[in-house]
Amino acid sequence: MAKFNIEKTKESRISEVDWNNLRFGVYFSDHIFISDFVDGKWDGGRIEPYRALPMEPGLCTLHYGQTIFEGLKAFKSVKGGANIFRPDMNAKRLNNSAKMVCLPEFDTDTLIEGIKELVMLDRQWIPQERGQSLYIRPVMFGSSNFLGVTASPTTRLIVMTSPVASYYAEGLKPIKILVSTEYVRAVKGGVGMAKTAANYAASLKAGMEAHSKGFSQVLWLDGVNRKDIDEVGAMNIMFVIDGELITPSLDKGSILAGITRVTVLNLAKEMGMKVTERNISIDEVIDAHNKGILNEVFGTGTAAVISPVGMLSYLNKEYVINNMEIGPVAQKFYDTITAIQYGEVEDTRKWNVKIDF
Ligand SMILES: *Cc1c(COP(=O)(O)O)cnc(C)c1O
Repeated sequence: MAKFNIEKTKESRISEVDWNNLRFGVYFSDHIFISDFVDGKWDGGRIEPYRALPMEPGLCTLHYGQTIFEGLKAFKSVKGGANIFRPDMNAKRLNNSAKMVCLPEFDTDTLIEGIKELVMLDRQWIPQERGQSLYIRPVMFGSSNFLGVTASPTTRLIVMTSPVASYYAEGLKPIKILVSTEYVRAVKGGVGMAKTAANYAASLKAGMEAHSKGFSQVLWLDGVNRKDIDEVGAMNIMFVIDGELITPSLDKGSILAGITRVTVLNLAKEMGMKVTERNISIDEVIDAHNKGILNEVFGTGTAAVISPVGMLSYLNKEYVINNMEIGPVAQKFYDTITAIQYGEVEDTRKWNVKIDF
């Protein structure tokens, strides 16, 4: 480690943190990792204090949205030090997203080393409580100033971190979901498979409207037939129908390859569950509900890990799932994944990158 130039902050802001009310993405820790792509190559990367960066009004990304990001977490391990969960997967996905919006790829090992160095330096910012974590946010964007519609010749990568609360204050609470028949998040051939700002901008209005009607998230259907299920909010979605775990397959081209998604699929196969990645329509889900074989529905994502769905509203009808209670399958995945992340069980699959301190 320590092959990066490090400029330490002169004054830590850690005393500003209200550890009992962290919420999500409100506090930013003292340092960032930063690297620039200029003249066709990335510089070596450096660590600097978190601070405002100069920006011109002509910054191309402000106008055309050539920007991608990642989200992963570091957890205080019960064995001492910290665990970063599957950062290799995030590094690879960042490069997949980069290709889709004409940004240059970044060396995955360098990114992981940069993240480790950053977390080590700001280790005081890793929250102590079970459920809390240090959220790690890499963001990469075109950094040139011009208004021509073309890929930016220069790019910047920044990794920032933020202490975040447990998603669940009191246990896993099932959420109510509105199946959107009006709005679409992404279509095949678009950028739905990239973790890029455009998808988020496109989802805000539907999300706000769902919120105002008392729903937590939107369930997205495909943009062509408005029948096949894509994702839920910014999470992947899974169904347990008659004991079988079913989730939309990635080759539909409009959903994100979630790391929690693949983690759950790995574990389900290990547990001997029947696991199927395929197209699944809202009609099939409603049909299963009517037959009484829709056992569970849940979202998967880094923020919540597992988010049980207790009710689906589709065409003004409400479908209650598992009595608005968390089901045994969702609970099992939540417990297993979090136990690995906090170092409470043996990490036999080598998913954690350990930081010793
Ligand atoms: C980030 C994200 C997910 C979840 O991915 P994880 O790697 O599991 O956090 C799912 N869908 C969308 C649209 C996302 O942006």
